[in-house]
Amino acid sequence: MRGYWRGAAGWLALWLAFTAIAAAVLGPLTALVGLVCWLLLLHARQLWHMDALLRWLDGAPGTPVPHGSGIWAEAFSYLARLVRRQRQDEADLRSALERFQSATAAMNESVIILDELDRIEWCNPSAEHYFEIDARRDIGRQLTYIVRQPQFVEYLDEQNFAEPFALRGARGGETTLSVQLVPYGNQQKLVISRDVTRWERLEAMRRDLVANVSHELRTPITVLAGYLETLNDMEVPDPIFQKRAMQLMTQQTSRMQNLVEDLLTLSRLENARGPSAEQPVDVPRLVQGLHHEATALSAGRHKFTLDVDAELWLTGAEAELRSAFLNLVTNAIRYTPARGRITIRWRPTQDGGGAFSVVDTGIGIAPEHIPRLTERFYRVDRSRSRETGGTGLGLAIVKYALSHHQARLEIDSEPEQGSTFSAIFPARRVCTAPVAVAAAAPVRA
Ligand code: ADP
Repeated sequence: MRGYWRGAAGWLALWLAFTAIAAAVLGPLTALVGLVCWLLLLHARQLWHMDALLRWLDGAPGTPVPHGSGIWAEAFSYLARLVRRQRQDEADLRSALERFQSATAAMNESVIILDELDRIEWCNPSAEHYFEIDARRDIGRQLTYIVRQPQFVEYLDEQNFAEPFALRGARGGETTLSVQLVPYGNQQKLVISRDVTRWERLEAMRRDLVANVSHELRTPITVLAGYLETLNDMEVPDPIFQKRAMQLMTQQTSRMQNLVEDLLTLSRLENARGPSAEQPVDVPRLVQGLHHEATALSAGRHKFTLDVDAELWLTGAEAELRSAFLNLVTNAIRYTPARGRITIRWRPTQDGGGAFSVVDTGIGIAPEHIPRLTERFYRVDRSRSRETGGTGLGLAIVKYALSHHQARLEIDSEPEQGSTFSAIFPARRVCTAPVAVAAAAPVRA
């Protein structure tokens, strides 16, 4: 017999014995009255406890469980234990939810929970950002009300979520999101999205690069293969043809060499986050050296003017600066017809920085091309660039080398009038010539 029933049976037996004794001693009527009184008292106690229980059930959450006596004490203590356990479970659940929310809030991925009718139940801040969801306004709305692209609506309808969906033009523009839907529970869905804009751009750049490099290599390789085949097939060697073939093959080989060198330089610059060195660079001496090279390269076809501030040095990587400046100077020579004028200038700017400019009186550039000139392989006139030994990578190299030094490239040009390419360095990159060096090697401006 369980404890409660054992107790109750004991009490009943006690009272029956007591009543029997009372009936024998005091008479049956008195014993009966006594028994009724005892039952009434018992009933009143039950009512009091029931009332306490009802008031507790009806009371505000958190009201302590009432105390009782007898079997009620035991029942209330069970109830109190149950309430304590439930509160603990609630607290555990709340803290798990808080942890989940703070983890998803810190995620770059956006997370949206959809109900069985594809209505938004919950989303993290990243989803609010990428899908432009206003949580107060849009919770309960269908996701297709926010993302209205027909392809996305179709993707949701088809229910085939094996592959992620590429949502282009998100955030009202350039952003591409990779959206993965994960069905779970009772037809609910988890929508996890990541910003893949940069990755897509890199992928497109990689494809373009492979296509461009193959295209650039095709002509010289075809020329080499053609001449080699003809030379092989010749039964009687023709010294004049052989000489010409050698000259042209050498030309094409050096074209390929230039291309490979420029590609390697570009890749080195792209992979580095900053300049390869942070040393004082004697820019006046560097520019003088470039002037000599330019004069040799021009072979008397152009008139040069040099305008250099002898005290103005830069902090950075000399090799990178040299490569950038040399590209600008050789471009000026290549795109300026004979008898044109080229000015090479290195001067302080008004805000304390420095500007390296190459001004030419060459063919100039139409305004629509200017914003694209630093793209790899972008040329205004493809055949002219190739004829003059261009790889189409020069200005891309300039852009990276300058950006390592927090400098910018400014292009000012007018067709048939000439161009000015300026590399503008910020004041923090400028330093003055160390005294000993400046005294030992003065530079004429
Ligand atoms: P390329 O090897 O073809 O010269 P660059 O990247 O150095 O490649 O230059 C890109 C394009 O910019 C050139 O093909 C040319 O059309 C144009 N360009 C560059 N510099 C000049 C300049 N000084 N005058 C006119 N056009 C220029």
